[in-house]
Amino acid sequence: MKILTIYAHPADTITNCGGTLARHADAGDEITALLVTHGGRIHANRYAEEWRKADRAQEIVDAGLTEIVDHKKHELERAAEYIGIQKLVTLDHDDTLAAVNEDIVEEIAEQIAREQPDVIVCDYPKNPVMATDPHTVISTMALAAIARAGSYLQNLDGRAETTIKQVFFTALQATANDALTHYGVRNDYFVDITPVVGRKVAAMDCFDSQGYSGLFARKLIESANGEFGRSAGVNFAEGFVRLNSETHALLTVTEAARAADPLTRHVTYSQLDLRAAFPVRTD
Ligand SMILES: [Zn+2]
Repeated sequence: MKILTIYAHPADTITNCGGTLARHADAGDEITALLVTHGGRIHANRYAEEWRKADRAQEIVDAGLTEIVDHKKHELERAAEYIGIQKLVTLDHDDTLAAVNEDIVEEIAEQIAREQPDVIVCDYPKNPVMATDPHTVISTMALAAIARAGSYLQNLDGRAETTIKQVFFTALQATANDALTHYGVRNDYFVDITPVVGRKVAAMDCFDSQGYSGLFARKLIESANGEFGRSAGVNFAEGFVRLNSETHALLTVTEAARAADPLTRHVTYSQLDLRAAFPVRTD
């Protein structure tokens, strides 16, 4: 299988679906991560915090766009290695991006046509009134690009249509164990990342310049992936919402559902102590 992830900022790929990608890499699947902005402004802790100090490191306060973007790319490349992402495509738009842009939709569509993925993973496009949220803008463009790549015509565009089999959305802050607890769209597809959670920690530790290393990496995984894990009945999970309905030959029961034991579910859920297993580096 071939997976293409489309995210606003470099670290988004790791925080939202890094564990899932690691499992797919282990399964021999091809993974390309597309980053629409260079992420130079998002969580620019390394630079902004330096300016708050009385005694500043000249190299950091002197850093311009090229240095800042290169530094973040280096962090992303190291993170991708831990996860097993084979290819990174960075479009390097400024992360002030606040509106849908036709040219960028076309750029993303061309990448989709080039990569020919079976599956796309991107953020759930939240309420568009939140125009300050670049993730919504990027996902809106990703969906438009999927439609555009699907309508490429050899006669007009010199290339054939690309049909995406499924889109998995991340970052929707709604989860439940079942279809009745609350109404509306919710994460109802979970990937157990417990076997690879150490790689997600290591990958997040790479994003030192934005303060994602150390305690934040562990806190985010314990809380967000822990909460998805509670719904999924495993230590740590990543949650997804599917765009397309699924067609099966028969009604299915997953392996996890067959193995689930309601009596001990909460105990096994709590087994892995993340901070003890993957302590914050002090070197
Ligand atoms: Zn982001």
